[in-house]
Amino acid sequence: MKIIDGKQISAALKADVAAQVASFPALYGRVPHLVVIRVGEDPASVVYVRNKAKACELTGIRNTTIVLPEDTPEAALLDRIRSLNADEGVDGILVQLPLPRHISEAKVIESISREKDVDGFHPLNVAGLWQKTPHLEPCTPKGIMQLLKATGVDPCGKRAVVIGRSNIVGLPTAKMLLDANATVTLCHTRTKDLAAITRQAEILVVAAGKAKMISGDMVSEGVVVIDVGMDRDPDTGKLCGDVDFDSVAPKAAAITPVPGGVGPMTIACLMQNTVLCFKDRVSKKA
Ligand code: NAD
Repeated sequence: MKIIDGKQISAALKADVAAQVASFPALYGRVPHLVVIRVGEDPASVVYVRNKAKACELTGIRNTTIVLPEDTPEAALLDRIRSLNADEGVDGILVQLPLPRHISEAKVIESISREKDVDGFHPLNVAGLWQKTPHLEPCTPKGIMQLLKATGVDPCGKRAVVIGRSNIVGLPTAKMLLDANATVTLCHTRTKDLAAITRQAEILVVAAGKAKMISGDMVSEGVVVIDVGMDRDPDTGKLCGDVDFDSVAPKAAAITPVPGGVGPMTIACLMQNTVLCFKDRVSKKA
């Protein structure tokens, strides 16, 4: 059994981004600039936004973090995004989700210029994924595909099972696996006899947000397991995944740990997307 080391794989990706960024001042006169907006003090969001700033520092990407109060009116946030869209010195804009309830996430996502949408959530980027036209890929699914590639797992012809159909993880991951020629089954809360389906998986991606819901008896020998979950273990209170690592790992050919699997890949992919946005913008100006 191989543990898929997301920390190590993401460090290599970030080193590659850093090398590219180091060459940009001589080529283009500046480095990419990522603006991250956080509204309110959601504790998980505080940590995520801080980690994004740290990754920018490591890769040489310029970062501005804007923190707005919880009661910021929706119109004020949209105005702020509009001015960042128009700002020639900004390459990427990310609004940390979830937003306070009085703000429409859909409106906010749509208001970000498609060219600066480093999260890949804008409707035009989503359409690009489904229509196979140029687009920015969402960071977590992109990270999952890169983990598989770095592990030497080619999805072509394999039975892939994805648990979870969210717009940010499950659904785009299923589409990317399909585009990589896997035979994909997408499971969700209404799926009947989940274990019968997961036992058929050669690649199993779990993004349900339910601590340790996949146990050893639900998988077959030789499965490759990608655990996206970031949950609290109800017994210990510690961070854990959707997969019961102790019972699944002995049967798996390869498996991601939590923490240290998908999480660091998501941030590395955000850095890659920021560089893609930057390159796209500077090449259009040239
Ligand atoms: P979500 O709540 O939006 O979606 C969960 C999906 O799982 C739903 O489609 C639901 O139908 C399905 N589901 C829930 N319980 C199920 C069950 N018992 N059986 C079958 N399907 C079930 O969540 P999300 O935003 O997609 O995130 C999923 C998990 O991934 C969460 O733990 C989240 O914290 C984590 N996450 C991690 C990263 C990362 O970078 N590591 C990024 C995003 C999300």
